[in-house]
Amino acid sequence: MIELRTPAQIEEMRPAGRFVAEVLTALEQKAAVGVNLLELDALAHQMIRDRGAESCYIDYHPSFGASPFGKVLCTSVNDAVLHGLPHDYVLADGDLLSLDFACAVDGWVSDSAISLVVGTPRTEDLALIETTRVALAAGIDAAVAGNRIGDIGAAIGAVAREAGLKVNLQFGGHGVGRTMHGDPHVPNDGRAGRGFPLKPGLVIAIEPWFLHTTDEIYTDPDGWTLRSADGSRGAHSEHTIAITEDGPIVFTARD
Ligand code: MG
Repeated sequence: MIELRTPAQIEEMRPAGRFVAEVLTALEQKAAVGVNLLELDALAHQMIRDRGAESCYIDYHPSFGASPFGKVLCTSVNDAVLHGLPHDYVLADGDLLSLDFACAVDGWVSDSAISLVVGTPRTEDLALIETTRVALAAGIDAAVAGNRIGDIGAAIGAVAREAGLKVNLQFGGHGVGRTMHGDPHVPNDGRAGRGFPLKPGLVIAIEPWFLHTTDEIYTDPDGWTLRSADGSRGAHSEHTIAITEDGPIVFTARD
């Protein structure tokens, strides 16, 4: 079921977005060669406690999960691109790290993701990250009342194709509200003018993610982390936004 939020509810959703952005900025500043993924999760967990927020991940236990997620942050390194379960791994020079973080503040969820390189970057990794950012911006620009869900996907897919990348349609954006994942599904490719009509009050996460040379993924033996089928690296950019009469509000915007 697709729920629309009132203007008052949209105002209530802003603090969660601001907090999620703050946590990602703190994690970005901490992420460096020699830092353990578990330290990043611990930092996010401490910030959640200090803020009185509620993790969307720690008890997350969907039908495909072997057990609850148990961490508050997704850390996906190199050929891992989504749902990376933080584990005892020390970041090495040149690692491409994707951080995906969602939590609730005052009962409203926001969800956002960034990718970055620690240490010396490979040019192609920076380009891949930039493509996800450009695709996210294009998707947000298309998230206006009067358009349809397919317009968001078409905008994202066009950026991917321009960069010579394939798009995986298994995992994409989603409705956001009292819980992390709601309707509608927001695929990272689509046909303009098709799908659910975008209306003021619709709150969604838009999250393009791409791999260098494939659109196929498999699940790591940890039961969560999604890795590229061919070992190529991935990047991910995500914001939670509200569609309003006056255009999209990006709840999780960072400076
Ligand atoms: Mg997310």
